Amino acid sequence: MEDRKIPYKIYLEEDEMPKAWYNLRADMRVKPAPLIHPGTKQPMTAQELEVVFCTELVKQELDDTTPFIEIPQEIRDFYKMYRPSPLVRAYCLEEKLQTPARIYYKFEGNNTSGSHKLNSAIAQAFYAKKQGLTGLATETGAGQWGTALSMACSYFGLDCLVYMVKVSYEQKPFRREVMRTYGATVTPSPSAETAVGRKILAEHPDTTGSLGCAISEAVETAVSKEGYRYVLGSVLNQVLLHQSIIGLETKAALDKYGIKPDIIIGCSGGGSNLGGLIAPFMGMKIKGESDCRIIAVEPASCPSFTRGKYAYDFCDTGMITPLAKMYTLGSGYIPAPNHAGGLRYHGMSTTLSQLYHDGYMEAVALGQTSVFKAAEAFARVEGILPAPESSHAIKVAIDEAMKCKETGEEKNIVFGLSGTGYFDMKAYESYHDGKMTDYCPTDEEIAAGLAGLPEV
Ligand SMILES: *Cc1c(COP(=O)(O)O)cnc(C)c1O
Repeated sequence: MEDRKIPYKIYLEEDEMPKAWYNLRADMRVKPAPLIHPGTKQPMTAQELEVVFCTELVKQELDDTTPFIEIPQEIRDFYKMYRPSPLVRAYCLEEKLQTPARIYYKFEGNNTSGSHKLNSAIAQAFYAKKQGLTGLATETGAGQWGTALSMACSYFGLDCLVYMVKVSYEQKPFRREVMRTYGATVTPSPSAETAVGRKILAEHPDTTGSLGCAISEAVETAVSKEGYRYVLGSVLNQVLLHQSIIGLETKAALDKYGIKPDIIIGCSGGGSNLGGLIAPFMGMKIKGESDCRIIAVEPASCPSFTRGKYAYDFCDTGMITPLAKMYTLGSGYIPAPNHAGGLRYHGMSTTLSQLYHDGYMEAVALGQTSVFKAAEAFARVEGILPAPESSHAIKVAIDEAMKCKETGEEKNIVFGLSGTGYFDMKAYESYHDGKMTDYCPTDEEIAAGLAGLPEV
């Protein structure tokens, strides 16, 4: 078969790694709406943002005109320890499915943090160090972002304070210990260390915490401690910018063999791995150079794109952050517990929200049982144990490949395998034991979340 010329893994050489990130917003006809101040309702200024975020990252956050931003040599040197990441041709999965489709996945789980999050963590830590800061504060839910940031901070010799949602802190001791191995201070949230934490504890002494609360504690710590700033692992423009390395490498690898993707699929929590993967392809689509389909996949229990509203909302539950215009379920929406912790966010990147609103991409929501079934099928033929988050993309890739089987079309399907699932074995256990449920919020629950949207 002529096809066999394409290797199982398309590797790029070290010197083929992109030297600049791609800022998709520069090529968007309709730019994403700016962050606005919740009090004045005016666009956030650089000065206002610099109280919370590193100066250079604020510049990146607000820049919607520069298409390429050079990746500093120090960051490229770190990237080289685990990048370029492979683009894998899923020959074994194709064989198993007996599909004429050609399936490719970009694998981002090949580092200790186990996901794509390290791509942005190292960039954010670098700019903090360059600014002369001493430390960074952040929150983590299940722990992937906290792990990535602790690795990045230890590399650049920065202090790393992680507020970890209390229930995860207690139930996921392994990720907590990975963070401590890299020198991070991990505090269960809510804690007695911050005013907002003490307030929440006084009102709800038995609370097991939430991501929204942990964000509030991390922001409070960052702005009140000399030499500290706050960092976030998804949603923000700067994070999508850093993650564009995923898409740029994918495109370079496909170009080597003259492959044009017909469908690109990625899971979407806050939108950073998907936004990074699709960046160059979406740029081509906007310019009329590609007509590939782009599909975002989200959990049915937290369906921001498919059932949310495109509106200004707070980025956190504590309502202390700026307002972002995005597909949202409302900052007070508490998704039912599901095992894809990294996808349980009420909102969505403003860039992806605008593109979805303008019809450049599609979205699908899935129940978690179907996702784990796909995860297991994938693991059994391709070897890699996928993260529950990434498995949302696997499921849709398999569905699309099966459609090709019916029609006989030889489509090129590319999906993002954002990470590995070694720390998610409780979830796999519940799937294997038949105890996994597929909670889907009622229309009333969705309406209740949206009723809390701020007036703008
Ligand atoms: C955090 C995470 C996600 C979701 O975050 P995005 O910003 O939407 O990419 C997806 N996959 C893995 C493995 C993660 O750790």
